[in-house]
Amino acid sequence: MSPGYRGHVPETHDETTSVRAAPRATHQVTNQVAPPEGLDVLAADTALVEALRRHAGQAAVTRLGPLGRLAGTTRARAWGEQADTCTPVLRTHDAQGNRLDEVDFHPAWHQLLRTGVEHGLGAAAWTSRLPGPHVTRAAGFHVWTQVDAGHACPLSMTYAAVPALRADQALADVWVPRLTSTDYDVGLRRAADKAGALAGMGMTEKQGGSDVRANTTRAVPAPGGPLEGGQTYLLTGHKWFMSAPMSDLFLVLAQAPGGLTCFVVPRVLEDGTRNTLRIQRLKDKLGNRSNASSEVELDDTWGVRLGDEGRGVRTILRMVSATRLDCVVGSAATMRAALVRAVHHARHRQAFGSVLADKPLMRAVLADLALESEAATALGMRLAAAVDNDEQDLLRLAVGAGKYWVCKRTTPMVAEALEVLGGNGYVEENGLARLLRESPLNSIWEGSGNVNALDVVRVLQHSPAAVEAVLAEVGAARGGDRRLDRELESLAGTLRTAAEEARRDPGAVEAGARWIVERLAVALQASLLVRFSPAAVADAFVATRVRGGGGMTFGTLPTGAAAAAAVVERALPA
Ligand SMILES: Cc1cc2nc3c(=O)[nH]c(=O)nc-3n(C[C@H](O)[C@H](O)[C@H](O)COP(=O)(O)OP(=O)(O)OC[C@H]3O[C@@H](n4cnc5c(N)ncnc54)[C@H](O)[C@@H]3O)c2cc1C
Repeated sequence: MSPGYRGHVPETHDETTSVRAAPRATHQVTNQVAPPEGLDVLAADTALVEALRRHAGQAAVTRLGPLGRLAGTTRARAWGEQADTCTPVLRTHDAQGNRLDEVDFHPAWHQLLRTGVEHGLGAAAWTSRLPGPHVTRAAGFHVWTQVDAGHACPLSMTYAAVPALRADQALADVWVPRLTSTDYDVGLRRAADKAGALAGMGMTEKQGGSDVRANTTRAVPAPGGPLEGGQTYLLTGHKWFMSAPMSDLFLVLAQAPGGLTCFVVPRVLEDGTRNTLRIQRLKDKLGNRSNASSEVELDDTWGVRLGDEGRGVRTILRMVSATRLDCVVGSAATMRAALVRAVHHARHRQAFGSVLADKPLMRAVLADLALESEAATALGMRLAAAVDNDEQDLLRLAVGAGKYWVCKRTTPMVAEALEVLGGNGYVEENGLARLLRESPLNSIWEGSGNVNALDVVRVLQHSPAAVEAVLAEVGAARGGDRRLDRELESLAGTLRTAAEEARRDPGAVEAGARWIVERLAVALQASLLVRFSPAAVADAFVATRVRGGGGMTFGTLPTGAAAAAAVVERALPA
């Protein structure tokens, strides 16, 4: 137990004080399925390994090997469960009544975060000289966040802060070496005294999260403040959601004289004193419980301007684009974790005289879940590879579309996987309930569904090059499947027409935004599967997803039993 942690810790049974007769056994426990033990989370994920090898080479797969093995241990699973159950505790004041504003975390949280940082899942990819650093990080993120999604939040924000900070060389000089470090250096100290650092973000306010123009936090120029790296201001106002409040710095939006502006707000000032960051409450959330999401007040809080006054949204969008990519990868990881549990359970649970996984209808359900998971993984990895290749036009449109679609699919997919476990799926200690509680989150933050879809339409409107880049990406599969070829022709027409209409009247295409984005994301996924996955996977995916070929629920595959069996076997080799 960490000395500071005073949160709820589940009671443990004390053998020395309990003297009870062993109860008489009334029955033998049979046909109950324990989670898979010692699964190599990376090696067992053929689709992920293939994508990583494709984009970064076998050496990257080998490098991530130890993390994949660790992620499947009982020890790592216990960290995830403990961090989720023994939730963070806010300490607003010390014993003498002085303001403290610190959050205590269970040691398991630190284990998770330390492991992530040490394996380069923070921002290390931005300065790595290895081939395919971003796609390698994405694969590691996919593997490791299956253990716990909550700590993925600070990893993700740390990763995403770097491209935004690079807008200002002086600020980048202070923070980028620390954010890209693989030292997990926990504790509130000034930048100069830290080997490694974590970043957070503060955009959302009570009166508006999506519409950040409604932010009321004020920023008043105060040159010569106790901070390195540029022009200092004093910020006053509040933030309604600020996750990971023990991070070392935050990218914060506030209204400066020249309009909405981005600021770097560190927790500790250059002279070693604390910056004013009053943590009012921690949110009591549906999921993501290991992560402290806080309500914060800023009161003459020091910040350094990042980018020009009035350009805050543009500046912070560089961060948002990277966190949106992580939402795709993180949701793919949640799907994968649910899929593994479902397939494992169905292979070991008997009903009506045979194992569930051998029942034709259950096999169809498992195969359908596997298709969704593989498509999400393939898209996440392709997008991360696009960061490595600096394919900005593709990223501009495909990240938004992917974020919208993959995150939206996660909740129904996890719910169906949970049902594979029957009643046990609904019980917390079996883990699927935690995944289900987690599953809607990525669709809400960093641009909720509608907002994200509208952002995609905005890119259609302003960037013809982005439209052509996504069409070229889908078109790379041309000739591989006639149904996808037809969809590509139709989609090209739809996107170009929508772009033209949006240029004439942006409002005209708003109502259809979800439809356009959904089709685009599915086509991107289908193109990847047609090019790189076995025929059984690609064929079933195109048959059920492209132009609404399938049913409305999972398990409505028109493909035969042998193909379904092949898909399930690929998803988790028996
Ligand atoms: C666990 C958690 C952690 C978070 N951590 C952070 C954090 O660290 N930092 C931070 O800044 N924020 C954080 N957020 C906040 C999150 O990013 C916002 O909740 C989100 O952006 C939505 O903003 P809102 O809650 O104000 O909803 P609103 O903006 O009010 O949106 C409500 C609904 O309206 C829809 N909508 C909005 N505008 C339109 C439109 N023009 N047309 C159609 N529909 C529209 C949205 O899609 C949404 O469904 C966190 C949220 C959660 C749940």
